[in-house]
Amino acid sequence: MPFGYNGKVLRVDLSTREIEVETPSEVFYRTYMGGSSLALAYLLRELKPGVDPLGPENILVFASSVLSGIPMGGMARFTVAARSPLTGLFGEAEAAGFWGPELKHAGFDAIVIKGRANKPVYLWIHDGEAEVRDASHLWGSDTGATQEGIRKELGDNLIRVAVIGQAGENLVRYACVVNNLKHANGRTGMGAVMGSKKLKAIAVRGRQKLEVKDPDGLRGISQSLVEAVKTHPGEQTLQKLGTPSFIMPLNMGGILPTRNFTRSQFEGAQKISGETMEETLSLGNEGCYACAVRCKRKVSSKERYEVSPDYGGPEYETLASLGSCLGIDDLEAIAKGNELCNRYTLDTISTGMSIAFAMECFEGGLITLDDTEGLELTFGNADAMVQMIEGIALRRGLGDLLAEGVKRAGEKLGGEAKKYALHIKGQELPLHDPRGKFGVGLGYAISPTGADHIESAHDPFFQQTGAGLESISPLGVLEPVPALEAGAQKVRLFRHTQLIWNLWNCLGICNFIAQPPWALSLNDVVKTVLCVTGWNTSLFELMKVSDRGMAMARMFNLREGFGRKEDIWPERLFEPLPDGPNKGQTFTKQDLEEAKDLYYEMMGWDRENGEPTRGKLFELNLEWLLE
Ligand code: SF4
Repeated sequence: MPFGYNGKVLRVDLSTREIEVETPSEVFYRTYMGGSSLALAYLLRELKPGVDPLGPENILVFASSVLSGIPMGGMARFTVAARSPLTGLFGEAEAAGFWGPELKHAGFDAIVIKGRANKPVYLWIHDGEAEVRDASHLWGSDTGATQEGIRKELGDNLIRVAVIGQAGENLVRYACVVNNLKHANGRTGMGAVMGSKKLKAIAVRGRQKLEVKDPDGLRGISQSLVEAVKTHPGEQTLQKLGTPSFIMPLNMGGILPTRNFTRSQFEGAQKISGETMEETLSLGNEGCYACAVRCKRKVSSKERYEVSPDYGGPEYETLASLGSCLGIDDLEAIAKGNELCNRYTLDTISTGMSIAFAMECFEGGLITLDDTEGLELTFGNADAMVQMIEGIALRRGLGDLLAEGVKRAGEKLGGEAKKYALHIKGQELPLHDPRGKFGVGLGYAISPTGADHIESAHDPFFQQTGAGLESISPLGVLEPVPALEAGAQKVRLFRHTQLIWNLWNCLGICNFIAQPPWALSLNDVVKTVLCVTGWNTSLFELMKVSDRGMAMARMFNLREGFGRKEDIWPERLFEPLPDGPNKGQTFTKQDLEEAKDLYYEMMGWDRENGEPTRGKLFELNLEWLLE
């Protein structure tokens, strides 16, 4: 068994209730390491192309990683992956919190789930054992009631539960998985896949100690990370205000999506900012397993909406998706919307963007009061937003259509509605207007999971000399690149930072702890893997793990029929940026196509369809995919 792992993958067939334990080789672990890459190794070998994502044939993988569960901050992330019911592509979402480390301490590195139960069940995994238990009494409950019910039933309040609420049960195509009521594997509809399998929850508890090769060395890196967090200005801002601190800078930069991306500055930004949240609803900060940053917000309210502190505070993406993108400046309503999404297990980005789509359709006369059962679905109507969240989760009225995502809803309504459906490959746009940062836009187009804002570190960090640029000097990027640059320099920068951020998906590292641009250096990440595993590893080897993961995700999508022509933006993103210092700025289709040409070439993928070449697959030990 390699250091840092349990050497065990749990296999569960829900149709037959059979449970097996697999013991992969050390070579397997070192090749894929964990997270999205490890999940893809199973999906590509065992999932047939073209299966119904909501059918029993789909395979659902929960994967921790080599670093998950070690006594060090920012190493808590785990991946949930399957074929996505939202996009039909590789579906993948990461969450931090406590569940991933607990799975490792419970004796397993990953869970591979097949089949469909004939009635609701949950998995109970503890100290090297696993069982399938009845969850009929929990079906129909939200996350809070489900977690409480399972903890009571099993008599342990420290059990960590990853769960779906009503949105997952009702197969909302962007339903997510939530652990500890507030940490979401948000995107691509992994909660709907759980719902389709009648799998209500996975409860984990473990007291097993993870063996690492060099505990003293690891302790040293962990302590220096704690010190680095204390002096890193970005980490200090995250600690004080969390990701809501991004609202004001993005608004000033003219890239805060507003009213379904028809504007890029919001007149109500100050009212939904991190600073205002701190002064009004905040009860302070909290964090994930072993993390010194503690960037998570805790909020409550007892005014117009009763907001429970148990479900966490809205992150930046939620403030923008349920706030500026809907023209809503009511922070209390947004906090309530966030709570409801975490109760029902709805991805807040896709939820907000689906409501934004509906609001633009309503204002354009494509959706009427008859369709909304009398609800004035206009931009700025906070009560309507709260009601629509419930409608989507329970598939009531118009909510049933919006539960399908904007791509399908736009196609159903037809005509102009398709223009208001802002998605890439079926996944709703995240809340960063890429017209002000081209690398982010290239990531939206290229991402294997559809539009994704954490595909690579964002352009502004590398615009000038300083800490951001210095943090990626080990990659050989030494000169600043302007945010609006779209040529070769930008594609090169994007490619390097994309590989790094994808590496975090394979290693289970939080995007807010490691460079670029946060506190933990690339060289210290390498040292951490070395101390944990004892492998004589290097940044080169880790980058190859990431490169391999990218190629596997691409191969997954190619066999589902997606290629170059799907790596594209919605028409609205080719229109001039409407507000802010870069007002009028545009990127053309030619800019994007030329960047794609270069990117594919840099990746060793062909220009015709972005397919990894034979040589590239051999280079990455992926020749088994040639078959
Ligand atoms: S930086 Fe924030 S999100 Fe990341 S592990 Fe720490 S507390 Fe969690």
